[in-house]
Amino acid sequence: MPTTRDYYEILGVARTADGDEIKRAYRRLAMKYHPDRNPDDAEAEAKFKEAAEAYEVLSDVEKRRRYDQFGHEGLRGAGAAHHDFSRMNVEDIFSMFNDIFGGFGGSARGGRRVARGYDLETEVSITLDEVLTGCERDVEFTRMDICQTCGGDGAKPGTKPKTCETCGGHGKVQQAGLGGMFRMVTTCPHCRGRGTVISEKCSTCRGKGRVPKKRTLSVKIPRGIHDGQAVRVQGEGEPPAPEHAPRGEGLRGDLHVVVRVKPHDLFVREEDHLMLEMPISFTQAALGAEVDVPTLEGSHKLVIPRGTQFGRMFRIEGQGLPNLRTGRRGDLVVVARIEIPKKLTSRQEKLLREFAETEDHNVLPESHGFWSKIKDVLAG
Ligand SMILES: [Zn+2]
Ligand SMILES: [Zn+2]
Repeated sequence: MPTTRDYYEILGVARTADGDEIKRAYRRLAMKYHPDRNPDDAEAEAKFKEAAEAYEVLSDVEKRRRYDQFGHEGLRGAGAAHHDFSRMNVEDIFSMFNDIFGGFGGSARGGRRVARGYDLETEVSITLDEVLTGCERDVEFTRMDICQTCGGDGAKPGTKPKTCETCGGHGKVQQAGLGGMFRMVTTCPHCRGRGTVISEKCSTCRGKGRVPKKRTLSVKIPRGIHDGQAVRVQGEGEPPAPEHAPRGEGLRGDLHVVVRVKPHDLFVREEDHLMLEMPISFTQAALGAEVDVPTLEGSHKLVIPRGTQFGRMFRIEGQGLPNLRTGRRGDLVVVARIEIPKKLTSRQEKLLREFAETEDHNVLPESHGFWSKIKDVLAG
Protein backbone atom coordinates (compact mmCIF):
# COMPACT_ATOMS: atom_id res chain seq x y z
CA MET A 1 0.00 0.00 0.00
CA PRO A 2 1.25 3.52 -0.77
CA THR A 3 1.92 5.65 2.25
CA THR A 4 -0.62 8.05 3.75
CA ARG A 5 2.01 10.32 5.31
CA ASP A 6 2.79 13.77 3.98
CA TYR A 7 5.47 13.56 1.30
CA TYR A 8 7.21 16.77 2.38
CA GLU A 9 7.31 15.50 5.93
CA ILE A 10 8.76 12.17 4.81
CA LEU A 11 11.61 13.91 2.99
CA GLY A 12 11.95 16.53 5.71
CA VAL A 13 11.78 19.45 3.29
CA ALA A 14 9.74 22.65 3.18
CA ARG A 15 6.79 22.87 0.78
CA THR A 16 8.78 25.49 -1.11
CA ALA A 17 11.82 23.22 -1.54
CA ASP A 18 13.31 23.25 -5.04
CA GLY A 19 14.22 20.21 -7.11
CA ASP A 20 17.78 20.07 -5.83
CA GLU A 21 16.75 20.13 -2.19
CA ILE A 22 14.24 17.37 -2.81
CA LYS A 23 16.83 15.28 -4.61
CA ARG A 24 19.36 15.75 -1.84
CA ALA A 25 16.86 14.93 0.89
CA TYR A 26 15.88 11.75 -0.88
CA ARG A 27 19.46 10.68 -1.52
CA ARG A 28 20.26 11.16 2.16
CA LEU A 29 17.27 9.09 3.31
CA ALA A 30 17.80 6.37 0.73
CA MET A 31 21.38 5.94 1.90
CA LYS A 32 20.39 6.04 5.54
CA TYR A 33 17.65 3.43 5.24
CA HIS A 34 19.19 1.28 2.53
CA PRO A 35 18.62 -2.36 3.51
CA ASP A 36 22.33 -3.15 3.03
CA ARG A 37 23.06 -0.76 5.84
CA ASN A 38 20.17 -2.02 7.95
CA PRO A 39 20.09 -5.77 7.49
CA ASP A 40 16.87 -7.52 8.59
CA ASP A 41 15.30 -4.22 9.61
CA ALA A 42 11.77 -4.12 8.24
CA GLU A 43 11.18 -0.62 9.53
CA ALA A 44 14.21 0.73 7.67
CA GLU A 45 13.04 -0.97 4.49
CA ALA A 46 9.59 0.56 4.87
CA LYS A 47 11.16 4.00 5.36
CA PHE A 48 13.37 3.44 2.34
CA LYS A 49 10.31 2.70 0.21
CA GLU A 50 8.29 5.54 1.64
CA ALA A 51 11.07 7.97 0.73
CA ALA A 52 11.16 6.61 -2.83
CA GLU A 53 7.43 7.17 -3.15
CA ALA A 54 7.69 10.73 -1.84
CA TYR A 55 10.56 11.42 -4.20
CA GLU A 56 8.75 10.02 -7.22
CA VAL A 57 5.89 12.43 -6.66
CA LEU A 58 7.75 15.54 -5.56
CA SER A 59 10.42 15.28 -8.26
CA ASP A 60 7.78 15.32 -11.00
CA VAL A 61 6.37 18.78 -11.69
CA GLU A 62 2.91 17.57 -12.67
CA LYS A 63 2.55 15.01 -9.89
CA ARG A 64 3.78 17.52 -7.35
CA ARG A 65 1.26 20.09 -8.54
CA ARG A 66 -1.56 17.57 -8.18
CA TYR A 67 -0.33 16.53 -4.77
CA ASP A 68 -0.03 20.13 -3.58
CA GLN A 69 -3.55 20.82 -4.72
CA PHE A 70 -5.42 17.65 -3.81
CA GLY A 71 -3.10 15.67 -1.53
CA HIS A 72 -2.82 11.91 -1.89
CA GLU A 73 -6.28 11.83 -3.52
CA GLY A 74 -4.94 13.85 -6.43
CA LEU A 75 -2.61 11.03 -7.41
CA ARG A 76 -5.28 8.37 -7.76
CA GLY A 77 -6.69 9.69 -11.01
CA ALA A 78 -5.82 8.48 -14.50
CA GLY A 79 -2.43 9.45 -15.78
CA ALA A 80 -1.10 10.25 -12.36
CA ALA A 81 -0.68 6.68 -11.24
CA HIS A 82 2.53 6.11 -9.39
CA HIS A 83 4.37 3.03 -8.29
CA ASP A 84 3.47 1.05 -5.23
CA PHE A 85 6.96 0.95 -3.83
CA SER A 86 5.92 -1.12 -0.85
CA ARG A 87 5.60 -4.04 -3.28
CA MET A 88 8.82 -3.43 -5.21
CA ASN A 89 12.21 -4.77 -4.35
CA VAL A 90 15.01 -2.48 -3.31
CA GLU A 91 17.27 -3.11 -6.32
CA ASP A 92 14.50 -2.14 -8.72
CA ILE A 93 13.79 1.04 -6.80
CA PHE A 94 17.47 1.92 -6.93
CA SER A 95 17.66 1.34 -10.66
CA MET A 96 14.60 3.58 -11.20
CA PHE A 97 16.43 6.52 -9.72
CA ASN A 98 19.83 5.73 -11.16
CA ASP A 99 20.57 9.34 -12.01
CA ILE A 100 20.50 10.27 -8.35
CA PHE A 101 22.73 7.59 -7.00
CA GLY A 102 25.21 7.38 -9.81
CA GLY A 103 24.24 3.75 -10.13
CA PHE A 104 24.96 1.15 -12.75
CA GLY A 105 26.12 1.93 -16.23
CA GLY A 106 26.62 5.59 -15.50
CA SER A 107 29.71 5.90 -17.61
CA ALA A 108 31.37 4.26 -20.53
CA ARG A 109 35.01 3.37 -20.78
CA GLY A 110 36.60 2.04 -23.98
CA GLY A 111 33.13 1.76 -25.49
CA ARG A 112 31.98 -0.59 -22.72
CA ARG A 113 29.57 0.38 -20.06
CA VAL A 114 31.22 0.30 -16.68
CA ALA A 115 29.49 -0.34 -13.39
CA ARG A 116 29.54 2.66 -11.12
CA GLY A 117 28.79 2.68 -7.40
CA TYR A 118 26.42 4.95 -5.53
CA ASP A 119 27.11 8.54 -4.67
CA LEU A 120 27.09 9.50 -1.02
CA GLU A 121 26.32 12.71 0.71
CA THR A 122 27.50 14.26 3.92
CA GLU A 123 27.23 17.71 5.48
CA VAL A 124 29.69 20.16 7.03
CA SER A 125 28.98 23.42 8.75
CA ILE A 126 31.28 26.44 8.37
CA THR A 127 31.32 30.07 9.51
CA LEU A 128 31.16 33.22 7.41
CA ASP A 129 34.81 33.84 8.28
CA GLU A 130 35.64 30.50 6.69
CA VAL A 131 33.67 31.46 3.60
CA LEU A 132 36.02 34.43 3.34
CA THR A 133 39.23 32.44 3.63
CA GLY A 134 38.25 28.97 2.48
CA CYS A 135 39.01 26.07 4.80
CA GLU A 136 39.75 22.42 5.14
CA ARG A 137 37.54 20.04 7.05
CA ASP A 138 37.79 16.44 8.16
CA VAL A 139 34.57 14.72 7.24
CA GLU A 140 33.67 11.35 8.63
CA PHE A 141 31.17 9.16 6.86
CA THR A 142 30.18 5.51 6.56
CA ARG A 143 30.06 3.76 3.25
CA MET A 144 29.40 0.23 2.11
CA ASP A 145 32.82 -0.97 1.07
CA ILE A 146 34.28 -4.11 -0.44
CA CYS A 147 34.59 -6.85 2.16
CA GLN A 148 38.27 -7.59 2.67
CA THR A 149 37.64 -11.17 3.78
CA CYS A 150 36.02 -12.38 0.56
CA GLY A 151 37.27 -9.68 -1.82
CA GLY A 152 33.68 -8.63 -2.51
CA ASP A 153 32.09 -11.75 -3.99
CA GLY A 154 30.43 -12.78 -0.72
CA ALA A 155 31.70 -16.36 -0.83
CA LYS A 156 33.57 -17.96 2.05
CA PRO A 157 37.31 -17.81 1.31
CA GLY A 158 38.31 -20.94 -0.62
CA THR A 159 34.86 -21.28 -2.24
CA LYS A 160 33.49 -19.62 -5.36
CA PRO A 161 30.02 -18.26 -6.23
CA LYS A 162 28.16 -20.45 -8.77
CA THR A 163 26.16 -19.29 -11.76
CA CYS A 164 22.49 -18.90 -10.85
CA GLU A 165 20.38 -21.56 -12.52
CA THR A 166 17.17 -19.53 -12.43
CA CYS A 167 18.44 -16.70 -14.59
CA GLY A 168 21.45 -18.37 -16.18
CA GLY A 169 23.70 -15.70 -14.77
CA HIS A 170 21.88 -12.71 -16.28
CA GLY A 171 20.48 -11.46 -12.98
CA LYS A 172 17.15 -10.70 -14.71
CA VAL A 173 14.20 -12.91 -15.53
CA GLN A 174 11.20 -12.41 -17.80
CA GLN A 175 7.78 -12.76 -16.29
CA ALA A 176 4.43 -12.81 -17.98
CA GLY A 177 2.37 -9.75 -17.06
CA LEU A 178 -1.43 -9.38 -17.09
CA GLY A 179 -2.76 -12.60 -18.65
CA GLY A 180 0.32 -13.00 -20.81
CA MET A 181 -0.39 -9.75 -22.68
CA PHE A 182 3.14 -8.54 -22.21
CA ARG A 183 6.36 -9.63 -20.60
CA MET A 184 8.15 -7.86 -17.84
CA VAL A 185 11.83 -8.09 -17.07
CA THR A 186 12.47 -8.13 -13.35
CA THR A 187 15.35 -8.80 -11.02
CA CYS A 188 15.94 -12.53 -10.58
CA PRO A 189 14.30 -13.44 -7.27
CA HIS A 190 16.69 -16.33 -6.69
CA CYS A 191 20.03 -14.51 -6.87
CA ARG A 192 18.60 -11.01 -6.32
CA GLY A 193 20.23 -9.82 -9.52
CA ARG A 194 23.76 -11.01 -8.95
CA GLY A 195 23.67 -13.80 -11.49
CA THR A 196 25.52 -15.99 -9.06
CA VAL A 197 24.60 -17.82 -5.89
CA ILE A 198 26.81 -18.50 -2.95
CA SER A 199 26.71 -21.89 -1.28
CA GLU A 200 28.91 -20.94 1.64
CA LYS A 201 28.68 -17.34 2.70
CA CYS A 202 31.58 -15.23 3.86
CA SER A 203 31.05 -14.81 7.59
CA THR A 204 32.32 -11.23 7.72
CA CYS A 205 29.76 -9.77 5.29
CA ARG A 206 27.16 -12.56 5.52
CA GLY A 207 27.43 -13.06 1.77
CA LYS A 208 26.76 -9.47 0.79
CA GLY A 209 30.30 -8.75 -0.37
CA ARG A 210 30.04 -5.31 1.19
CA VAL A 211 30.46 -4.13 4.75
CA PRO A 212 29.84 -0.68 6.27
CA LYS A 213 33.12 1.12 6.87
CA LYS A 214 33.86 4.44 8.49
CA ARG A 215 36.09 6.74 6.55
CA THR A 216 37.57 10.14 7.33
CA LEU A 217 38.65 12.48 4.58
CA SER A 218 40.10 15.92 4.57
CA VAL A 219 38.02 18.08 2.24
CA LYS A 220 38.94 21.50 0.89
CA ILE A 221 36.07 23.99 1.03
CA PRO A 222 36.71 26.75 -1.52
CA ARG A 223 36.37 30.40 -0.52
CA GLY A 224 33.12 32.03 -1.51
CA ILE A 225 31.01 28.88 -1.25
CA HIS A 226 27.30 29.37 -0.56
CA ASP A 227 25.02 27.68 1.92
CA GLY A 228 23.62 24.52 0.36
CA GLN A 229 26.31 24.11 -2.29
CA ALA A 230 28.22 20.85 -2.38
CA VAL A 231 31.85 19.99 -2.90
CA ARG A 232 32.15 16.83 -4.97
CA VAL A 233 34.94 14.45 -4.08
CA GLN A 234 35.30 12.12 -7.02
CA GLY A 235 35.64 8.41 -6.37
CA GLU A 236 34.94 8.58 -2.64
CA GLY A 237 31.44 7.12 -2.85
CA GLU A 238 30.61 3.42 -2.81
CA PRO A 239 31.97 0.70 -5.07
CA PRO A 240 29.38 -0.82 -7.43
CA ALA A 241 27.05 -3.35 -5.84
CA PRO A 242 28.20 -6.97 -6.15
CA GLU A 243 25.43 -7.75 -8.67
CA HIS A 244 26.97 -5.18 -10.99
CA ALA A 245 30.59 -5.87 -10.24
CA PRO A 246 31.10 -9.21 -8.49
CA ARG A 247 34.87 -8.96 -8.68
CA GLY A 248 34.99 -5.41 -7.41
CA GLU A 249 35.59 -3.90 -10.85
CA GLY A 250 34.01 -0.67 -12.01
CA LEU A 251 34.06 2.85 -10.67
CA ARG A 252 33.26 4.19 -7.25
CA GLY A 253 30.56 6.82 -6.95
CA ASP A 254 31.33 10.28 -5.63
CA LEU A 255 31.00 11.89 -2.24
CA HIS A 256 29.01 15.12 -2.11
CA VAL A 257 29.91 17.29 0.84
CA VAL A 258 27.04 19.72 1.34
CA VAL A 259 28.19 22.93 2.98
CA ARG A 260 26.03 24.71 5.54
CA VAL A 261 27.02 28.27 6.41
CA LYS A 262 26.14 29.23 9.98
CA PRO A 263 24.34 32.53 10.43
CA HIS A 264 26.58 35.34 11.69
CA ASP A 265 25.77 37.58 14.66
CA LEU A 266 26.34 40.81 12.74
CA PHE A 267 26.41 40.20 9.03
CA VAL A 268 23.72 38.96 6.72
CA ARG A 269 24.89 37.54 3.42
CA GLU A 270 23.33 38.66 0.16
CA GLU A 271 25.06 36.81 -2.71
CA ASP A 272 28.67 37.98 -2.36
CA HIS A 273 27.71 41.10 -0.41
CA LEU A 274 27.39 41.47 3.33
CA MET A 275 24.74 43.60 5.01
CA LEU A 276 25.28 45.17 8.41
CA GLU A 277 22.83 47.13 10.50
CA MET A 278 24.88 49.84 12.20
CA PRO A 279 23.43 51.64 15.22
CA ILE A 280 24.34 55.32 15.29
CA SER A 281 23.14 57.91 17.75
CA PHE A 282 20.62 60.54 16.65
CA THR A 283 23.19 63.26 17.28
CA GLN A 284 25.72 61.49 15.04
CA ALA A 285 23.03 61.20 12.38
CA ALA A 286 22.12 64.87 12.70
CA LEU A 287 25.60 66.34 13.01
CA GLY A 288 27.68 63.80 11.10
CA ALA A 289 30.43 61.58 12.51
CA GLU A 290 33.23 59.22 11.74
CA VAL A 291 32.42 55.73 13.00
CA ASP A 292 34.24 52.38 13.13
CA VAL A 293 32.30 49.81 11.18
CA PRO A 294 33.07 46.17 12.02
CA THR A 295 34.13 44.02 9.05
CA LEU A 296 34.91 40.30 8.88
CA GLU A 297 38.60 41.13 9.16
CA GLY A 298 38.54 43.99 11.66
CA SER A 299 37.03 47.42 11.24
CA HIS A 300 36.69 50.16 8.69
CA LYS A 301 36.31 53.93 9.16
CA LEU A 302 33.13 55.33 7.72
CA VAL A 303 32.03 58.95 7.52
CA ILE A 304 28.37 59.46 8.37
CA PRO A 305 27.38 62.75 6.75
CA ARG A 306 25.23 65.36 8.51
CA GLY A 307 21.54 64.72 8.23
CA THR A 308 21.75 60.96 7.74
CA GLN A 309 18.30 59.41 7.75
CA PHE A 310 17.19 56.09 9.19
CA GLY A 311 17.84 53.25 6.74
CA ARG A 312 20.40 55.10 4.65
CA MET A 313 22.86 52.68 3.06
CA PHE A 314 26.61 53.06 2.76
CA ARG A 315 28.62 50.83 0.50
CA ILE A 316 32.14 49.85 1.48
CA GLU A 317 33.63 48.30 -1.64
CA GLY A 318 35.54 45.05 -1.48
CA GLN A 319 34.67 44.21 2.12
CA GLY A 320 32.16 41.51 1.22
CA LEU A 321 32.86 37.88 0.37
CA PRO A 322 34.90 36.51 -2.51
CA ASN A 323 33.04 35.23 -5.53
CA LEU A 324 33.31 31.45 -5.81
CA ARG A 325 34.41 31.62 -9.46
CA THR A 326 36.22 34.91 -9.92
CA GLY A 327 37.48 35.46 -6.36
CA ARG A 328 36.41 39.10 -6.68
CA ARG A 329 35.05 40.39 -3.42
CA GLY A 330 31.61 41.82 -2.96
CA ASP A 331 30.79 44.88 -0.87
CA LEU A 332 29.84 45.54 2.72
CA VAL A 333 26.56 47.42 2.80
CA VAL A 334 26.02 49.36 6.03
CA VAL A 335 22.45 50.29 6.90
CA ALA A 336 22.14 53.16 9.37
CA ARG A 337 19.89 52.44 12.32
CA ILE A 338 19.40 55.57 14.32
CA GLU A 339 19.01 55.02 18.03
CA ILE A 340 16.94 57.27 20.22
CA PRO A 341 18.19 57.43 23.81
CA LYS A 342 15.89 55.70 26.27
CA LYS A 343 17.19 57.66 29.25
CA LEU A 344 18.35 61.27 29.42
CA THR A 345 20.39 63.03 32.07
CA SER A 346 18.72 66.20 33.36
CA ARG A 347 21.24 68.28 31.41
CA GLN A 348 20.50 66.37 28.19
CA GLU A 349 16.79 66.81 28.76
CA LYS A 350 17.22 70.54 29.33
CA LEU A 351 19.21 70.91 26.12
CA LEU A 352 16.74 68.87 24.13
CA ARG A 353 13.84 70.94 25.41
CA GLU A 354 15.66 74.06 24.33
CA PHE A 355 16.18 72.44 20.96
CA ALA A 356 12.51 71.54 20.75
CA GLU A 357 11.58 75.16 21.41
CA THR A 358 13.51 76.14 18.27
CA GLU A 359 11.29 73.79 16.29
CA ASP A 360 7.63 74.46 15.92
CA HIS A 361 6.73 71.07 17.41
CA ASN A 362 4.60 70.26 20.37
CA VAL A 363 6.38 68.03 22.96
CA LEU A 364 5.02 66.44 26.12
CA PRO A 365 5.77 68.22 29.38
CA GLU A 366 8.57 66.97 31.66
CA SER A 367 7.96 63.42 32.72
CA HIS A 368 7.77 64.07 36.44
CA GLY A 369 5.12 66.74 35.97
CA PHE A 370 3.39 64.60 33.38
CA TRP A 371 2.98 61.61 35.68
CA SER A 372 1.87 63.62 38.69
CA LYS A 373 -0.74 65.20 36.44
CA ILE A 374 -1.99 61.76 35.42
CA LYS A 375 -2.14 60.76 39.08
CA ASP A 376 -4.16 63.87 39.81
CA VAL A 377 -6.60 62.94 37.05
CA LEU A 378 -6.95 59.38 38.32
CA ALA A 379 -7.42 60.57 41.90
CA GLY A 380 -10.41 62.50 40.58
ZN1 LIG B 1 32.84 -11.03 2.73
ZN1 LIG C 1 19.44 -15.49 -10.81
